[in-house]
Amino acid sequence: MTKAMAETAQERADLLIVHGHLLTMRGAGVGYLPDGALAVAGGRIIAAGPTGELEARFAADNTLDAYGCAVLPGLVDAHMHTPWAVVRGVAQDVAHWMQKGLAPYAKHLSPQAALAGTRLNVLEALRAGTTTMGDYATPFPGWAEVFDQAGVRARLTPTINALPPGGMAGWRVGDLYPLDEKTGAAALQNALDFADAWHGAAGGRITVMLGPQGPDMIGRDQLLAVKAAAEARGLMIHMHVAQGDREIDQMLKRFGQRTPGYLAAIGYLDSQLLAVHLTEATDAETEMIAAGGASMALCSGSIGIIDGIVPPAHVFRRAGGRVALGSDQAAGNNCNNIFNEMKLTALFNKIKYRDPTVMPAWEVLRMATIEGAQAIGLGDEVGSLEVGKAADIILVDLTEPNLLPILDTPIRTIVPNLVYAATGREVRTVIVAGRVLMRDGAMQTLDAAAIRADAQAAAQEVARQVAADPVHREMALLDAMAAGQL
Ligand SMILES: [Zn+2]
Repeated sequence: MTKAMAETAQERADLLIVHGHLLTMRGAGVGYLPDGALAVAGGRIIAAGPTGELEARFAADNTLDAYGCAVLPGLVDAHMHTPWAVVRGVAQDVAHWMQKGLAPYAKHLSPQAALAGTRLNVLEALRAGTTTMGDYATPFPGWAEVFDQAGVRARLTPTINALPPGGMAGWRVGDLYPLDEKTGAAALQNALDFADAWHGAAGGRITVMLGPQGPDMIGRDQLLAVKAAAEARGLMIHMHVAQGDREIDQMLKRFGQRTPGYLAAIGYLDSQLLAVHLTEATDAETEMIAAGGASMALCSGSIGIIDGIVPPAHVFRRAGGRVALGSDQAAGNNCNNIFNEMKLTALFNKIKYRDPTVMPAWEVLRMATIEGAQAIGLGDEVGSLEVGKAADIILVDLTEPNLLPILDTPIRTIVPNLVYAATGREVRTVIVAGRVLMRDGAMQTLDAAAIRADAQAAAQEVARQVAADPVHREMALLDAMAAGQL
């Protein structure tokens, strides 16, 4: 066969990624393929295999040389609250975090500040290789548009609760907080309108879940109305479950039951549910939730800082449940970076069980990719590098000093180094649905300088208003400020 004949026989691709250390996440492990390649067309992966084979088979418009890089599925962050990035650092190391740390800032978080926070968080997460963002917020103008315009994949959850206007500012720890049915009904209607507008938008990149904020923050009938609406529309439910002693206390006082038993009794524990945190769930309650078919979102950094607790994800997985990682919010966790979550998850669980074999690197890498995608209902779309899946792909530079050496035998070093040594700054290139969003560290869809400047200005305005409001005197960190500790 002549060279010309060989070329005409080639299939066309938009993009070929060649010479990478592929972690496809196929099968039960990490699906490693040395000197691997991916062919992408129409936003999807059309082939994965050895570089030599794919170079012979495809003629591509663009080729990316991934020599020295790990090539893996874009990371999944199942649970974020991006507006809070604008008040990163205001509420750590305190008891009663929500009331004594966050509430004054919540009171003054304007829609403009929320938007600045979301833009900052999307920039931060994308920079660190997160391609699927499971954001959870009270909708404000421009929220979904940020994800649309950035080009990332988003699973958005508009918050539904029945807390009267003003939220928890001024509420006393231990009191039963009031629930307002009208507020709950309006929030549900807003969420349904939002779902109608955005579920399946941007070519399917943006999808919606329904989010009762917590079973303690809405009445029983309205919680059931959310489930009925979710079932009618084929949407998942994304809810904080057993997320702290505050919630359990409220549940006992209002409904006479701990959260897991209450949810079981009203038929909420099934595969439609993504249960976030389970901070206060006992092992038996955790096993019951997993057995019902629900998935779990695990926010190791956030719950570590806010509660000093390691959530029962290990028990949940042993009971057959699927676990996704989440970064939660920057006012508690301080960063929205799934590399950070992988490392903390592995470490915290080893320490909790005093066993170095618990939550090995490959397991947390699966939670950040394929298992996380499955847990949030996107397992057929993303989470692994397989033919037919969306081309959500990241390239991580393994030649950075903290990731060397790259050894293949007798022990392969790539996965442990990605989990225990990478910071996220080693991510070089990010692709979502076949489109390059970051190339060699340079943002292609976001104006990083403008986003940073806006976030700083918006944060200063929020802080100014909090300082001028007497409600700020409730903040626990004022003592640390007075003592010169911050
Ligand atoms: Zn949350």
